[in-house]
Amino acid sequence: MPKIIVLRLGHRKKRDVRATTHCCLAARALGANEIVLSGERDETPLETVRGVTKKWGGSFKARFQPNWLRFLRGFKGTKIHLTMYGLPLQEKISEVRRAGRKKNVLIVIGAEKVPRVVYNESDYNVAVGSQPHSEVAALAIFLHEFFEGRELDKKFGGARITVTPNARGKTVSKKKKTRKPEKRAENRRKTT
Ligand code: SAM
Repeated sequence: MPKIIVLRLGHRKKRDVRATTHCCLAARALGANEIVLSGERDETPLETVRGVTKKWGGSFKARFQPNWLRFLRGFKGTKIHLTMYGLPLQEKISEVRRAGRKKNVLIVIGAEKVPRVVYNESDYNVAVGSQPHSEVAALAIFLHEFFEGRELDKKFGGARITVTPNARGKTVSKKKKTRKPEKRAENRRKTT
């Protein structure tokens, strides 16, 4: 099964912590397998999404990559750069989806100005409308179109917290942490 990886370019520790965290959370919740963060090194968004994965399940990965250009150039698969200057998503999505059936997909999103080389290295420069908005919105809409809505039914295995949909209130189930067998035996020994 090909993987969907998001490359978040140009993270600025002070300015972007919220937006980058939202990129991580949206990527995980909407069907991507991994996010690779570049720019200023910052563990905060990575730790947040790892914590969410621990509690809410799935196997989403998040890591920092200091050399984003080497990563982009070396990526084996289809590279899609989301930019308002690109070709319309609605014209390109079928082709991109077909490519994604056989090979891994890299979705590149920027923060401020994206270097020219990203446009040249990408297989597709795709616009989610030709107006400026946000990397979180662009990523979410792209994933929704890519998966044709199936990402909304995605199951997150190993979840400790799950929500049961409810028309009015909140229905949340929490599983207790299960201790490792050797810990259980150790505790039994202590109490006997
Ligand atoms: N001038 C930028 C551009 O090239 O799209 C807008 C900068 S925006 C603050 C940060 C990121 O959001 C961009 O690098 C791009 O990945 C994404 N983005 C914003 N508007 C977009 C749009 N209409 N279509 C696709 N991506 C968009």
